[in-house]
Amino acid sequence: MITKEMRDIEKYAEEYNVPIMDKKGLLFLLNQIKRNNVKNILELGTAIGYTAINMALLDDDVKVTSIERDSNRYFEALKNVKNFKLERRINLVLGDALDINLEDKYDLIFIDAAKGQYTKFFEKYCNNLNENGIIITDNMSFHGLVDAKDVIPSKNLRQLVKKIKNYIMFLKKHNEFETKFYKAGDGIAVSRRIK
Ligand code: SAM
Repeated sequence: MITKEMRDIEKYAEEYNVPIMDKKGLLFLLNQIKRNNVKNILELGTAIGYTAINMALLDDDVKVTSIERDSNRYFEALKNVKNFKLERRINLVLGDALDINLEDKYDLIFIDAAKGQYTKFFEKYCNNLNENGIIITDNMSFHGLVDAKDVIPSKNLRQLVKKIKNYIMFLKKHNEFETKFYKAGDGIAVSRRIK
C-alpha cells in the first residue's frame, strides 16, 4: 500500500534530485525477497531510505542494514526510518561502503551505490553472503545507455557505461556465481553462488 509518508519520500527525491529505485525495479526486488524467503538484507547506497523502508515493510522479520556515504542523505534517511517506526529493523550506517568492514552474513546484498565501483562492491561483499543468498545489482542498463548504438557525447558518461559493461562481463565470467539479467526497471542482475 502506498501511504502519504511514502509519497512524501518520493516527492522529496524528485524535488532534491535524489536517485531512488524506479517502481518496476522495486517491485521486482520485493518479489525476489518474497520468493527467496530473504530475512537479512545489506543495501549499499541508502540515499534517503526509500528502498530500505519498502523492503522492511514487506515482513516484520525482514532486517536491513544500509550504508550511505553522503551525510545529508543519511540524516534524511534516519528521519524517514523513524517516521515509519522502523528503527529496530533498519540499521543505517554512515560511511563509504568500500571502507566499512562488516562481519555479518546476509541473505540478500543489494548493490545500488556508485556505478563505477560495482565490481569492487561485489568482490568485497560477496564474503558477507549466506550460502544460499543472492546479490542483486540495479542499473544494469543505465537508462538504456549500456545497449545504446549511438556514441555517448559525454566523456564521463562514456567511462561510466564502460565500467558497467565491464561489470556485466565480470559477472558473466565469474566462476563462483551464476548471474541472470532482467529487463525490469533500469535492468537488474541477480547473482547466486554455483553449488
Ligand atoms: N538504494 C536507494 C533507493 O533505491 O532508495 C538509492 C541509492 S542511490 C541510487 C545511490 C546512493 O549511493 C547515493 O545516495 C550515493 O551517495 C550512495 N553511494 C555511492 N557510492 C557509495 C559508497 N561507496 N558508499 C556508500 N554510499 C555510496
